[in-house]
Amino acid sequence: MNKGKKLYEGKAKIIYETKEKGLAIQHFKDDATAFNNKKKATVEGKGVLNNRISEHILNNLNQVGIKNHLVKRLNMREQLIKLVEIIPIEVIVRNIATGSLTKRLGVTDGTVLEKPLIEFCYKKDELDDPLIAKEHIFAFNWATKEEIKIIEEMTFRINDFMSGMFRGIGIKLVDFKLEFGRIWNNDQKEVILADEISPDTCRLWDIKSEKKLDKDRFRKDLGNIIQAYQEVARRLGIVPETTNVSEVNFKKPTSINIKKR
Ligand code: 5GP
Repeated sequence: MNKGKKLYEGKAKIIYETKEKGLAIQHFKDDATAFNNKKKATVEGKGVLNNRISEHILNNLNQVGIKNHLVKRLNMREQLIKLVEIIPIEVIVRNIATGSLTKRLGVTDGTVLEKPLIEFCYKKDELDDPLIAKEHIFAFNWATKEEIKIIEEMTFRINDFMSGMFRGIGIKLVDFKLEFGRIWNNDQKEVILADEISPDTCRLWDIKSEKKLDKDRFRKDLGNIIQAYQEVARRLGIVPETTNVSEVNFKKPTSINIKKR
């Protein structure tokens, strides 16, 4: 599948057009950013791992009836996806209080929530993706009431499925971020899951040691970022597909290369 022109470049991904109507190519970069771009680095091999991990999770979600934008993985760094009209909202799901929730409300870090908490943020880098109420979504027509109802239902099902999947491999799904988009289906708009689900977008803690296996290793300068992502891939049963060990040897990484930019 040939790549056309660049449609969008984000912090960790690039979207290219294709000749096929309604399809695009999603390319996973090695760039890591945090605190809305204030901290930046290149983490060699991260894009390859996120491509494989996100493919695995989205394929599994598809099998349990959660429609999403993934068509198929094309190669080490690219996926063929359905081109969606992104809804400008980040949907955050929390099972355990940490991160911005504890900072904002003074809740003790690690508090297990009685039931999953959904939060909405307005997807706007210039404003640092501010937390919003559902009423803001309707006031500014970012999504309809029906769309938000569907998004909430899908989000709870995704959380149930993913919590179980990660529990089975000794990992706690602490929190994560989802994005949704609209596609046209027989003259009707349909909401589907978009973007990626990976250690970049989830907080994943080892059940026994509570070791962080996600992007907090980068945010908090904990080191061994690639090893943590490889550990998640290994436990999910994702096996390396090439002999290019510097990028995909999940068991024994030969190098971690973090270039500060
Ligand atoms: P927090 O609001 O505590 O910073 O993040 C909650 C969860 O959503 C974390 O798993 C975090 O990784 C994810 N998340 C929130 N906003 C973003 C974002 O802009 N980019 C990425 N990659 N993840 C995000």
